[in-house]
Amino acid sequence: MKLLASVMEQVIKRNPNEPEFHQAVREVLESLEPVAEKHPEWMAAGIFDRIVEPERQIIFRVPWVDDSGKVQVNRGFRFQFNSAIGPYKGGIRLHPSVYSGIIKFLGFEQILKNSLTGLPMGGAKGGSDFDPKGKSDNEVMRFCQSFMFELARHIGPDTDVPAGDIGTGGREIGYMFGMYKKLRNEFTGVLTGKGLTWGGSLARTEATGYGLCYFMDEAMQTIKGKSFKGATVVISGSGNVAIYAAEKVFQLGGKVVALSDSNGYIYDPDGIKLPTIQQIKEVERKRISEYIKYHPKATYTEGCSGIWSIKCDIALPSATQNEIDEASAKKLVANGCFAVGEGANMPSTPEAIEVFLKAGVVFGPAKAANAGGVATSGLEMCQNSMRYSWTFEEVDAKLKDIMINIFKNSSAAAKAYGFGNNLVAGANIAGFEKVASAMFAQGITY
Ligand code: NDP
Repeated sequence: MKLLASVMEQVIKRNPNEPEFHQAVREVLESLEPVAEKHPEWMAAGIFDRIVEPERQIIFRVPWVDDSGKVQVNRGFRFQFNSAIGPYKGGIRLHPSVYSGIIKFLGFEQILKNSLTGLPMGGAKGGSDFDPKGKSDNEVMRFCQSFMFELARHIGPDTDVPAGDIGTGGREIGYMFGMYKKLRNEFTGVLTGKGLTWGGSLARTEATGYGLCYFMDEAMQTIKGKSFKGATVVISGSGNVAIYAAEKVFQLGGKVVALSDSNGYIYDPDGIKLPTIQQIKEVERKRISEYIKYHPKATYTEGCSGIWSIKCDIALPSATQNEIDEASAKKLVANGCFAVGEGANMPSTPEAIEVFLKAGVVFGPAKAANAGGVATSGLEMCQNSMRYSWTFEEVDAKLKDIMINIFKNSSAAAKAYGFGNNLVAGANIAGFEKVASAMFAQGITY
């Protein structure tokens, strides 16, 4: 890095001990060097220095009472990163690993991802170190209500529209929406991922997983003349993204042979039976190891990283950040894997990405490949504003168009700046250029 080295230095100095944020920024700045060269006016206007600093960082106490009557205290976050092209938008992560560095990395990525969708949405992220696992519905409700009690004063349908992420599904969005409505006395599209009877969009639940497959199908066909048809696919995770990615893979003629959760992974060479997974994970909220009770021919292995040693044509990491390291990437390549699509945010380490790019693997980076979720959230906002609902087929068709356009724009940007088929660089550049030109046009706002 030459022109942007000082931006990176400042990020490290200003955000010490936040390696995930450094990793996300470094990857983007490395791609943006030629953009900085081409646009001295953006350098002069401090666009690069400004985009890495959140516009606003809100950190708050979330007290709640557990079922035994004991007071619990969690920490809540909402980082409103960039509003150049629309109201802040991004999910809420509920997981014990949440701290400032995770929220910053996700919020920063969200700016470029939202820009790539072509819809008018700025970037934000929020969350808490609360762990919904093992909590009763009433405990989750009390936490969500307390979280929203504070968050409500910082968000609104034209200001900031949060959504789900790890640990925040339909149940949590429901409790948060109910509290917001009570506090504000207004029924408005302030959260996305809502239930279908109260403002949610059809196909939102499926959107990230389906969108990932639409993106990868287009990328594989264009770059390698290949598709999901007849392919063996390994997917990590068994949450919202993983389950619907698996459903779409089967619809497109592929076979998913492995899925995981944070304890371990299952391997079913005949193809994973998705209804069993949905019953275990979505209805009973149990561990994925239960699967082998229903399908004794399948195997369960404790620990997560071994999933990448299963032979496959296509890998879709859809659990969490940095789940594929260099060694796992090498195993995938050695076993003949020709495409990797990131369903999760930043699931591949920089070293792993290097391995994939060098081997000519079709690599769909998260901010492009998993943008279908937020794109459909944008469509949910649109329907809420119109007080109207599109059919599943209408939303799904728009989602598919958006994902194909994200691929085309990322691919065109990569080629225009001499990065060939490197979609990591292409997505960073295509997402950034739109936000940068909006920031430039709006001046240095105080
Ligand atoms: P869910 O909470 O529905 O599922 C997450 C899955 O990943 C679960 O199977 C979980 O296992 C597993 N997991 C979580 N943390 C870890 C960990 N540290 N190690 C191993 N496995 C882990 O989340 P989503 O499916 O919504 O999100 C998955 C990823 O996709 C995240 O990176 C998220 O940011 C990203 N994403 C999600 C979008 C969406 O629309 N939902 C949109 C764009 C990106 P367990 O059940 O044991 O917790």
